[in-house]
Amino acid sequence: MTATVRPDAVQERILRDFPILHKPTSRGKRLVYLDSAATSQKPQAVIDALVKYYSEYNANIHRGVYEIAELATTAFEEARGKIARFINAAEDAEVIWTRNSTEAINLVSFTWGIQNLRRGDAIVTTQVEHHSNLVPWQLLAERTGAELRFIPVDAQGVHVLDDLDRLLDGAKLLALSHVSNTLGTIAPLDMLTKRAHAAGARVLVDAAQSVPHMPVDVQKLDVDFMAVSGHKMLGPTGIGFLYGKRALLEAMPPFLTGGDMIKRVEYTHTEYNELPWKFEAGTSNVADAIGLGVAVDYLRELGMDWVRAHDIALTAYALERLAELERRGLVVYGPLPAENRAGVISFNLGDVHAHDVASILDTDGVCVRAGHHCTMPLMEKMGWPATARASFYVYNTEADVDALIASLHKAADIFKLK
Ligand code: PMP
Repeated sequence: MTATVRPDAVQERILRDFPILHKPTSRGKRLVYLDSAATSQKPQAVIDALVKYYSEYNANIHRGVYEIAELATTAFEEARGKIARFINAAEDAEVIWTRNSTEAINLVSFTWGIQNLRRGDAIVTTQVEHHSNLVPWQLLAERTGAELRFIPVDAQGVHVLDDLDRLLDGAKLLALSHVSNTLGTIAPLDMLTKRAHAAGARVLVDAAQSVPHMPVDVQKLDVDFMAVSGHKMLGPTGIGFLYGKRALLEAMPPFLTGGDMIKRVEYTHTEYNELPWKFEAGTSNVADAIGLGVAVDYLRELGMDWVRAHDIALTAYALERLAELERRGLVVYGPLPAENRAGVISFNLGDVHAHDVASILDTDGVCVRAGHHCTMPLMEKMGWPATARASFYVYNTEADVDALIASLHKAADIFKLK
């Protein structure tokens, strides 16, 4: 499939698959959803999978011997297999279900991190991280006495690698986002992973913004851990996963403890379950895991090369159209051209606060994010009190960008920007 932003047959079909996009806003406007970096919309197939599970085979997994319990267990484990194939994990057991990427990162911090880090070690991260991939490392540094170091980014949000050898010297962990949710910057993951490994560090990738939007192959990239949220990739909320290399997961202590993560329990001792269940204490989020499996089917059918090409085409079109607002004070942040970023565009309109811009856009049915995007240190470094952010996904078209531009002109009129 060739990517296009015009509503060709593929786009028409995709649009039909997302019921929320056909429900007008309370002001009678078409919903122009440009906030997929926060969470994506869900196709009917995912919604149907949840309804089918609850109405036809809802049961607890792994224990029941009756038919619907077996159906539920099979569907749950099949969904894990779909994820493993989607990211090319060597085996299904390297995929651990979590609530979201935040929980996946915390799992590594509280287990592998506590076990492996000491005073004198370093944790290296970057200046563009989401709070989810920063606060856990701050806490780990506090607890272990390890030092937290930052790969800087330039004014466009691009990683500055001049000092990499010094930063990685003594590092035990490089924890970085593949794609920045605020600026769309794509980290040079392949090279950074090689350099980190050569320095003796493990690599954790926050892939919350990359796995939904581009082909990601964990074996090719050779990353050690990867954290992903299902709700940003057409799946339900409340489900995500951690990928980890088997040898590392085997050596780690459990995170949460209780039912399901055990093989044998005595009053004073417990033998833990095998992977992946060692890390899945308590009743799992069965319905949403199954729903995420269906979301992955949907993305695979579109093809991740198509998804990436569509993001680039739409971002290029949006950057071109946004340029016409420059004379009215609009400033776009992040790397250029469109190929160098994900489908995320942060901007400000003159001195107007991003929240005011977003509120005016909302009256036209245009949904954009405004604020610090959970990257407060980055905003402070850049000197931006807030930005507005438009982000794209498979269901967005040129018409959505046109609606954004028209609404931004309206905002500029309201604030009397020439
Ligand atoms: N990392 C990045 C880069 C993100 O964009 C997000 C979500 N905005 C997260 C982590 C956290 O995702 P969740 O809240 O689903 O755990």
